[in-house]
Amino acid sequence: MLRPLLVDVVGQKIAIRSHNHQLQHDRPGTIFPTDPHTRDMDELLNAAREAVSKAYVPYSEYAVGAAIETTAGAIYTGANLEVSNYSNSLHAEEVALSRALMDGHEEFERIAVSAEAADGPTPCGMCRQTLSEFAGPDFVVVVDAQDGPETYRLGELLPHAFSGANLGVE
Ligand SMILES: [Zn+2]
Repeated sequence: MLRPLLVDVVGQKIAIRSHNHQLQHDRPGTIFPTDPHTRDMDELLNAAREAVSKAYVPYSEYAVGAAIETTAGAIYTGANLEVSNYSNSLHAEEVALSRALMDGHEEFERIAVSAEAADGPTPCGMCRQTLSEFAGPDFVVVVDAQDGPETYRLGELLPHAFSGANLGVE
């Protein structure tokens, strides 16, 4: 008797997936597939890899893609965008995070980062600080290294982070 119930539950999940898949076309750059806790890490990494092709890097030619996953299960991608004075350049992680924030997301689970060079690019110090503004020390950072994905916690990459607490704001 349990089996039909299981089929129903699975059928319902498939229906949700297919509904969410349509949303993808309504909102370019976002994907709403499954519960983030059951999603394969490859899906997030692949989103970051695909974002690499959107990079605008005429000066460094170092193309980076990032994909951030919200607690609600949405994925937002970003790529680095260079400006000729370098200072105004945006990093892939910042672009992905900004797009998610602009859509009203405030809680995040993981970010994947990939570079065309496949050299396992961990977020730079500036991006680590930016991520720590919106994510806790357990936030997962996955980088696309030559020997396969490497996983870190944000608290590992940015220990003793400066925060609002330093300014008396919790
Ligand atoms: Zn950065």
